[in-house]
Amino acid sequence: MTVHRSRFTVHGSQFTIRAVTLLALAGAALADDPPGGAAGLLDARLAAACDAAARAAAETRGLPFLRPVGRRVASREEFARHVGEVVDRDFPRERQREIALSLAAWGFLPEGYDLRATYMEMFADEVVGYYDPREGELVLLREAPADVLERVVGHEVVHALQDQHFGLEGLVRPDRNTDDEAWAHAAVVEGEATLLESEGSARRTGERAEPGLGARLRRLLEERARTVGRTIARVPPLLRENLIFPYAEGTAFVEEVRRRFGWPGLTLVFWDPPASTEQVLHPERYMERRDFPTRFRIPDLGPLLPPGSRRAEANVLGEHAVKVLLAPAVGAEAAAAAADGWDGIEFVVWEAPRRPPGAGPGPVLAFASAWDSEGDAAAFAAAYEKARAARPAVPRDPAPAPPRLERRGDLVFGLEGAPADPAEALWEALVRSERVLHPRDPGARDPGARRG
Ligand SMILES: [Zn+2]
Repeated sequence: MTVHRSRFTVHGSQFTIRAVTLLALAGAALADDPPGGAAGLLDARLAAACDAAARAAAETRGLPFLRPVGRRVASREEFARHVGEVVDRDFPRERQREIALSLAAWGFLPEGYDLRATYMEMFADEVVGYYDPREGELVLLREAPADVLERVVGHEVVHALQDQHFGLEGLVRPDRNTDDEAWAHAAVVEGEATLLESEGSARRTGERAEPGLGARLRRLLEERARTVGRTIARVPPLLRENLIFPYAEGTAFVEEVRRRFGWPGLTLVFWDPPASTEQVLHPERYMERRDFPTRFRIPDLGPLLPPGSRRAEANVLGEHAVKVLLAPAVGAEAAAAAADGWDGIEFVVWEAPRRPPGAGPGPVLAFASAWDSEGDAAAFAAAYEKARAARPAVPRDPAPAPPRLERRGDLVFGLEGAPADPAEALWEALVRSERVLHPRDPGARDPGARRG
């Protein structure tokens, strides 16, 4: 875990709980005899563990530390305060509200969900250490047991090394990346830290590091997420996945990169990171024939909506998020199958003029999506229809036009919550969305070349 700049994942939606660390933290009961000194210094044993982990990470990766890494211990209160400040700096309260509104429009969250409160609770439950790229330092929870912290430093020093060479803030900038890209980048960042820490600690104890860590981690984390009493056990699945995906699928992705190209291959990945969770879930779509997502330019719907409407979100819903969205209605396996043909979903959420809470129309969700084939488009449309129908209905006054979903060839368009009057005009505008190449697709620089 790490406290990256966008602690919540990315720009739009995912209030990610990136700040969390993971596995290490497992369950950390608080120690009676906390390891940190009162002055915020690490005790000798922890400092030595930190130095040893840093040396091992630098050697394994063939990348030296370029400057010393600060490290300190902090109390639970300091931890919570710092994280709260970072969250509010990166995501002003108004932005937090827009993100929650947008996630609710898709059905990921109930309306009015307090993302910030949940985030802070999950953080308190799960995190015992993080790397702060602004300060370039590791911060460890004073109340955590020493053996847990020793594993945590093995993970967090990797983030320090990554940051010194690749700049973590730029990788996950919410204003430069879509949510889907940010999840993909987080997977690389967390996958590497998880794999290096795990193999480092196996070496110390003389165990053999087995391949398949990413898959084992998913089972472990899912089990953990069912533990009664933990915040993660009762949060909506998307928030849970913010915590699981970067570690589990990220580690599997990094294992695959290393298997094919060794650690130097991973350095190249940092300079040219996966552009989507699709590429993380299917490494061959990154490493063999690069499958860049399709993007869309959705026309400005503002002039068609009632005066005072505002665009609360414009983002990309990735393959992994689609799986999370569909799974409750169709089951995990069918959701994965329906999401597999993903080639890009661009969406906007418009908010009606403010009324007293609970009154007035809800948000308008419009999306344009591309699929690998007409069959894939039809499979998604069928599964999505079920997911939407399963969502609890929210009474609106005035009632919006019925939701609309339509497949056109390998494209699927959706419009929900539209006011009855301009619904037809909104639809006509939406289906004129222009399909464009991903900015990093080489074809985007050469208008003559188009991906097949
Ligand atoms: Zn991490």
